[in-house]
Parts: sequence; structure tokens; C-alpha cells
Amino acid sequence: MKNISVIGSGTMGNGIAHVFAQSGYSVSLIDIAQEPLDKAMATIEKNLDRLVAKEKITESDRNATLTNITTSTKLSAAAEADLVVEAATENEEIKLNIFRELDELCKGDAILASNTSSIPITKIAAATNRPAQVIGMHFMNPVPIMKLVEVINGKETSAATTKAVMDTAKDLRKIPVEVNDFPGFVANRILMPMINEAILSLEEGVSGVMEIDTVMKIGMAHPMGPLHLADFIGLDVCLSILEVMHEGFNNAKYVPSPLLVEMVANGTLGVKSGEGFYKYEKGNKELVVASRFTN
Ligand code: NAD
Repeated sequence: MKNISVIGSGTMGNGIAHVFAQSGYSVSLIDIAQEPLDKAMATIEKNLDRLVAKEKITESDRNATLTNITTSTKLSAAAEADLVVEAATENEEIKLNIFRELDELCKGDAILASNTSSIPITKIAAATNRPAQVIGMHFMNPVPIMKLVEVINGKETSAATTKAVMDTAKDLRKIPVEVNDFPGFVANRILMPMINEAILSLEEGVSGVMEIDTVMKIGMAHPMGPLHLADFIGLDVCLSILEVMHEGFNNAKYVPSPLLVEMVANGTLGVKSGEGFYKYEKGNKELVVASRFTN
């Protein structure tokens, strides 16, 4: 693996491009318009500057990382990639179209990976003529900091593809874990019911926002309480993952809490909208004040 293409330059795409480029890979970062690409490059630069300031990397590492990334608004820029990591908007139709096109334009031996949180890898693979070379590569947010990568085997993913992707993730100094293709994989299957239960506890009046988060932080040694974490992930994202699991397993234990549904309908989405279970200054992830839900 030498040439990498990252499709989609949003929250996850810019982080994925960053970590590959910092490990010496040549990265082509692709999006549908120049504006998200410019924003992604500005974010990567800012994150690298922070690493230089903390003396985690040198100025020359920073410059080399930036030189390793080129941007394009054309999917054809992925033609020379050995590995493509798709991190476009979580929409099945968008992803299936991207994989159909990638299958046609990429080299025959290229591996096509998706960072999807909820769409079955087997379904994505079926849009291509190379299902053995299609796999899930599920990075965690924020990508430059979080060590875990869930590597998801679709029904037809070959052992060689899995090994290549596991080895590549290790080369990025990540810790890859192999999982099978079930709704929510492992991370979200366990995390989302916990977040949903925290919201139900709040809704039923078991306790307040700060109290519920404190119980999980102090009592269970979680670095962040589930309600604060839900604000970071985005309440709309939590809702959509719970809906996918509810539908995928046809099991009532994944039914999203009415409060979560109501908050998303009202546009209360967490950090990105300035308010979730807590309030935030716009564009700032720092918690300002506990919200109206606090006891
Ligand atoms: P985002 O909305 O921040 O970014 C998506 C980007 O994809 C946008 O810049 C958009 O312009 C681009 N895009 C849309 N259609 C495209 C196309 N046809 N070709 C190229 N680019 C296209 O989304 P995100 O949060 O970065 O999520 C991306 C993927 O990562 C999703 O599949 C999501 O489920 C997954 N994911 C997200 C998180 C998270 O915490 N945000 C964590 C793990 C996985």
C-alpha cells in the first residue's frame, strides 16, 4: 500500500487523510466541491500545528504531511489508489453509487474500504464486481487521536484483504479489531443502547444530566458521560444508528427514546447545533453550562 484515496473530506475524511499522510502515504482527498476540501485542509493544518506546538511532531513532519495530500473534486483521482477509504455522507444511495464508480475506475487489485457506521459492508460490496476486496474500516472520531479501528469483514471479504487492511491500520499506529458484519458492528451495538438508556433514565426522572454522567464517569471510569458523549457524536447520528439497529435486528430493545426523537426533530443536535444535553458556544466544543434538563 502506498497510494491512498479518501472519499469525503468531512469530520472523518479529513482525519483519515491526516493519519495516512502523517504515516508517509500519498493521499488523494476527494469531495464533491472545493469548499469542503479547503475546509478539510485548513483543519488538518490546524491539527498539525497543534502537534508541533506540543512537540509531538517536528515542523518538517508537518510540512511533509501536508505535501503528501492532494485534493480533487473528481472521483477519477482515485484511479491509482492501492486502497480507497470512503468516508462520504452516511447515505446508502450515495455510497452504493461511489462504490459502483470506484469499481470501474480503480486498479483491479485495489481494496475498497468504507468508514460507514451502519450500512452493511456486504450490501456495499454487492455494488461492485470485487466483493472479496471490499471491507469496512471504521475509524473513531477524532481520528488522529482515537486508536481503535474496527475492521469489518463482509460475507465475501477475502482473508488477504482483511490482512492487508489490518496491517495498514497497524502501520498508522492504530489498534485494529476484526469484527463481522452485523448492524452497529461492536462499537455502536454496545455504545448506542447505553446512550439510549441514559436518555430514558433522564426522561423518566431517575436523575439529571450531570448526575447521570457523573455516575458513569466516576462509577464506571468512563472518560466522558454518555449524555455528553451523545452531544459530541451528534444526536441525529445516535438516532439514525439506533434506527438502523432496530430495523436490522427487529428487536424492541433498540427503539430510540422519545426524548431523543423529539430533540432531533427540534434541531437540538448536540455540539454541532450549540445545544444538546448541555449548551455549547457556537463552533466551540467546550461545555458552557448544563442545559434545561439538569436537576
Ligand atoms: P460529514 O458530513 O462530516 O462529511 C461527509 C463528506 O462527504 C462531506 O464533505 C460531503 O461533501 C462528502 N460527500 C458527499 N457525497 C459525496 C460524494 N459523492 N463524493 C465525495 N464526497 C462526498 O460526515 P462524517 O461525520 O465525516 O461521516 C462520514 C462517514 O463516516 C459516514 O459514513 C459516517 O457514518 C462515518 N462515521 C462517522 C463518525 C463520526 O463521529 N462523525 C464516526 C465513525 C464513522
